[in-house]
Amino acid sequence: MTPTAALVWFRRDLRARDHAALREALGRFGRVHGVFVFDRPILDALPEEDRRVEFIHGSVRELDRELARQSKGAGLLVRHGDARELIPRLALELGVQEVVCATDYEPKAIQRDAAVARALEAHNIAFTSLRDKVIFEKDELKTGAGGMYSVFTPYRKAWMRSLAPHRVSPFEVEGLERLAPKGAGERIPELAELGFRKTDLSLRVGSGGARELWDGFQTRIGNYQQDRDFPALEGTSRLSVHLRFGTISIRELVRFALTQDTEGAQSWLNELVWRDFYHQILWHRPDVESHAFKRAYEAVPWEEGAVADARFEAWCEGRTGYPLVDAAMRQLLSTGWMHNRLRMVTASFLTKDLGIHWLRGERFFARHLLDYDLAANNGGWQWAASTGCDAQPWFRIFNPTTQARTFDPKGEFIRRYQGDGDFPPPIVDHALARQDALRRFKGLA
Ligand SMILES: Cc1cc2nc3c(=O)[nH]c(=O)nc-3n(C[C@H](O)[C@H](O)[C@H](O)COP(=O)(O)OP(=O)(O)OC[C@H]3O[C@@H](n4cnc5c(N)ncnc54)[C@H](O)[C@@H]3O)c2cc1C
Repeated sequence: MTPTAALVWFRRDLRARDHAALREALGRFGRVHGVFVFDRPILDALPEEDRRVEFIHGSVRELDRELARQSKGAGLLVRHGDARELIPRLALELGVQEVVCATDYEPKAIQRDAAVARALEAHNIAFTSLRDKVIFEKDELKTGAGGMYSVFTPYRKAWMRSLAPHRVSPFEVEGLERLAPKGAGERIPELAELGFRKTDLSLRVGSGGARELWDGFQTRIGNYQQDRDFPALEGTSRLSVHLRFGTISIRELVRFALTQDTEGAQSWLNELVWRDFYHQILWHRPDVESHAFKRAYEAVPWEEGAVADARFEAWCEGRTGYPLVDAAMRQLLSTGWMHNRLRMVTASFLTKDLGIHWLRGERFFARHLLDYDLAANNGGWQWAASTGCDAQPWFRIFNPTTQARTFDPKGEFIRRYQGDGDFPPPIVDHALARQDALRRFKGLA
């Protein structure tokens, strides 16, 4: 029997264009359904107010409207429950022969997808997952010795060398008019029905939001190299949340950067390559989720106990007495985003000045960042803590005061996030803390 129907499972690819799973399903099947699942095992662990859930909810709504527009009335089936049960059940109900989705590289998602694939297999339904989120996935790039890359520069060279046109050409979606109509009574649950409240999210969601940011950034990309480190400037793209949820395609961004002959565009492209780099690290070494990439650093004697807990709390709340660190933490808490320079400064402060385990900071960022991405967040934290691959050497320790002088010379950024007279005394002395940090790491590797 020739295959007739497929189910496209949308996850972190919330757009209707340049879409691997849609292209594949519409290319091979006569009838195609689309579904998004608000996955309970993920959602149940979140607080009732979560900017990400609101972002996803709004983006799913927008995607549903876009699919309906292009297919003359069809749209997205939206479910709330455990995807491991819902997807196989829905596939059976709809009578599809295949479930198609974009590959997710996070360990928990890999386990979930394996469970879904097993349940589908029991009913002779295929499960296909495709590269969409990154340009090179898994072990597509290998060192001369056939292993993974743990140093960025040779990875970047291999990435550039291997960049054949098909890597960045769009996954054109044709035949959306064949998207199956939704049954009567199908609707997208309200945020409250999912157990969440509205937040202060002020970002424009969905592909429309991504497009707006992208249009603006294309005119500024040439200045990226000179502006990117100054948090008071609009120097970066702010596309991270959109890349995280796939409201814009990575291929479109890379294609554009490749056509630009400016230092800014090259430097920005480099960051997109870092994104792939950390994804391949996580895929090869899923243990980094909770362990040091460099195993010798598992032995770092991190600070614990009441003093460390109080200092951790001060760091979380932006009360360390170091104005740049505090302003950065307040930016995170009040907007859900933090500038890259400040992610490095705050992560360095927590792990080096306060001697607190990088995992505590990593988990805190995971809860608050709109763009939270395990591969990039873990990579960034382990870089700052010096436990990661190609990380900051342990003896090079950021001075939070010098960082402020260099990257916020007029104090504009600090003032934006600090109330009048809101300068508590420093909770540690940087010079002394630095000595402690050096002692903590010395002799370990
Ligand atoms: C401690 C720490 C934690 C971080 N956590 C995350 C995270 O959870 N999610 C996340 O997307 N990025 C993370 N980053 C990387 C980086 O800070 C953000 O991607 C960036 O600040 C997002 O802003 P932007 O979109 O304006 O970036 P731009 O400067 O415009 O960069 C464009 C895109 O490149 C990617 N990118 C940029 N820098 C990096 C990097 N160092 N590593 C991997 N990808 C990168 C992002 O997708 C970003 O949107 C972290 C960095 C550090 C030091």
